[in-house]
Amino acid sequence: DFDDENGAYIKVNKDQIAYRYEIIETLGKGSFGQVLKCFDHKRKEHVAVKIIRSKKRFQQQGMVEVNILQHLKNIDHDNSINVVHMKEYFYFRNHLCISFEILGINLYELIKKNNYQGFSIHLVRRFAYSILQCMKVMYKENIIHCDMKPENILLRQKGSSAIKVIDFGSGCFESQRIYTYIQSRFYRAPEIILGIPYTTAIDMWSFGCILVELFTGYPIFPGENEAEQLAMIMEVIDLPPAHILAEASRRKLFFDSKNMPRNLNTKLFKKRRVGSKSLAQILKTTDTNFVDFVSRCLDWDPAVRMNADDALKHPWILELKKKSSKDVRPKHRHRREAETSIEHDNTLRNFTN
Ligand code: ATP
Ligand code: MG
Ligand code: MG
Repeated sequence: DFDDENGAYIKVNKDQIAYRYEIIETLGKGSFGQVLKCFDHKRKEHVAVKIIRSKKRFQQQGMVEVNILQHLKNIDHDNSINVVHMKEYFYFRNHLCISFEILGINLYELIKKNNYQGFSIHLVRRFAYSILQCMKVMYKENIIHCDMKPENILLRQKGSSAIKVIDFGSGCFESQRIYTYIQSRFYRAPEIILGIPYTTAIDMWSFGCILVELFTGYPIFPGENEAEQLAMIMEVIDLPPAHILAEASRRKLFFDSKNMPRNLNTKLFKKRRVGSKSLAQILKTTDTNFVDFVSRCLDWDPAVRMNADDALKHPWILELKKKSSKDVRPKHRHRREAETSIEHDNTLRNFTN
């Protein structure tokens, strides 16, 4: 009955052709295209279909997304690496389309729903641990996501704190980097801004930025342009070390011959003084383990920055294990954790107080 060659249609009989995917609603939009909730009449289930813009560059990158997703799905035997599962891909009227399992809302929408108040340290740690499951595998497989941000992390379903990472549409294998200009600006690692060959460490930078945003409700470095992005970073982590600048092909755009920021006397730098803000101040917390964790994500030097394996051994993450081992009903531990409801998480913190 079904025509497998042509993923978008199903053959009903000899003369009659019906569409396979019935559009229910729009789930989201991004720079690559739009994502629709559809009913797949062949699989008899709801799916999310990402329809990629028809321009050649987007199609090519779309196939990279397909390849990375396929690679990750192949090693995700027990659905534990927290990466969205691709179902199929096909072409429809010159558009590459990818169908996925349906997930819940993204973490930016969740932050917004919570009135930008930020989440409790406990919830932020649970998110961090889940995201690290994906980052650990990417680190091992030498895959760079290149667009880690709250919009690309989705709740698995309503009312659960379990997540999956989506949108590998900017991703690449470390050995096959194509683009030099990647990542969304707020989450962009300094080596991208400065023009230094990048590694999986750029995702760790973004991850640090995401954790701050989950905790405070606001992006830590919301630069309106690259110069401001760098100025905001330097406010918190001082000037880049000389050996980093020595590798930077774009150094002259931002620094003078003495490695001092250009235009130090401009309005921008009067407003944003180098080294004038501490992470503890921004986070408004006395949790020194959390501050230390974030500071190890936000290191100028990608070689010094934590990798996902280091991060999973950090005391701030290990506190999660301590807490759950105190659980009086260890038998039900995993189930209880999976079912923790955000709505009922009384540790949601009112940051505005
Ligand atoms: P970007 O501009 O970040 O590159 P994009 O065009 O590559 O975005 P995606 O990030 O893949 O597109 O998807 C856009 C939005 O659609 C997501 O932020 C999310 O809100 C929604 N979305 C994507 N996949 C799913 C899914 N499987 N289930 C539910 N919602 C989804
Ligand atoms: Mg996206
Ligand atoms: Mg994308």
